[in-house]
Amino acid sequence: MKEANFYPGPSRVFANIPEYIYEAYMEGIMSINHRSAEFMHLMEETIRTVKDRLQIPADYTFVFTSSATECWEIIAQSLTRTQSQHFFNGAFGQKWAEYAGYLTKVNQIRFDPNEELPTHLLDAKSDVICVTHNETSNATAVDMNLLRVLRANSSGRVIAVDATSSIGGVELDYRAADVWFGSVQKCLGLPAGMGIMLLSPRAVKAAETIGENKHYNSLVKLLENAARNQTSYTPNVLDIYLLYRTQRLSKGIVATQEKLTERYVAYEQLFAKAPGVSFLIENKAVRSKTVLALKADHVLKLHAEAKDRGIVLGNGYGAWKSSTFRIANFPAIKSKEVEKLHEFFTRKL
Ligand SMILES: *Cc1c(COP(=O)(O)O)cnc(C)c1O
Repeated sequence: MKEANFYPGPSRVFANIPEYIYEAYMEGIMSINHRSAEFMHLMEETIRTVKDRLQIPADYTFVFTSSATECWEIIAQSLTRTQSQHFFNGAFGQKWAEYAGYLTKVNQIRFDPNEELPTHLLDAKSDVICVTHNETSNATAVDMNLLRVLRANSSGRVIAVDATSSIGGVELDYRAADVWFGSVQKCLGLPAGMGIMLLSPRAVKAAETIGENKHYNSLVKLLENAARNQTSYTPNVLDIYLLYRTQRLSKGIVATQEKLTERYVAYEQLFAKAPGVSFLIENKAVRSKTVLALKADHVLKLHAEAKDRGIVLGNGYGAWKSSTFRIANFPAIKSKEVEKLHEFFTRKL
């Protein structure tokens, strides 16, 4: 890789991806039939490995989708009877609410990015409660304890969590919600083009009770296929293989989180000293550990200067596009690259 890429998705992929792609080609993985025994074995091993490394409860069902965006629709289409409630403070959570709104009734709760998840606004009518764990656009994250509060007050209803830019990077309390999903091009460090979705026994039961089966991606069909270690439509077998190979090598989510936390703390110290740079989110308690959003005086100039040094900074998102830049703190980024970024900002001091 010529450049140190800090874009928060698509983002830097793991350094051994080229080797694994070559291996997949030589072994014919890219061409295996997705109804074959060979594929079913690969899917089984991949799920077993990911569940082990990410400490996902054994009774949670794992399904492959094509993206996080598809998961938004699956939840609205197959898990929502009458209404879903959406808590959001940024662009991704808002988009989820919008897409759900085309398929079902929605109750939108927008909260301030500097504030904690307003659990007291939980409504009693929605059958699904939707939360974005890590809001990639403004670099905020929801405290696991507040998810547990939602869980305790939700009287058995389904809680769905978009963890696209945190799954694989930080420890998640999977038991605090029923549906967790994300795509692979963020913390999982893989080429884009696949999503994963985890369902609690309660979510599986809800899907079966509702029984919605009018779409190619109806949840009951995904679940029926997953039970046989298959998929409804031809999956991204290469990405499944890459997920298997990279996770097999992973030291597990505790070690990964430790590494990212260390890097995060060092970034906080660095940017506390950098002139004209400050965190977009003032409240430290709600800041994401996997994506950083920083305000800067001359963002365009900063991007150009960084580029000259072989560093790609992430653009700000949506309303924050011209006033902020973002930095991915994802596991696939190398320590050498992190050092390079520190050097770049230290030189400006
Ligand atoms: C990137 C992202 C998505 C969209 O992922 P796709 O793979 O493009 O569907 C959804 N939610 C969050 C929080 C994201 O960061």
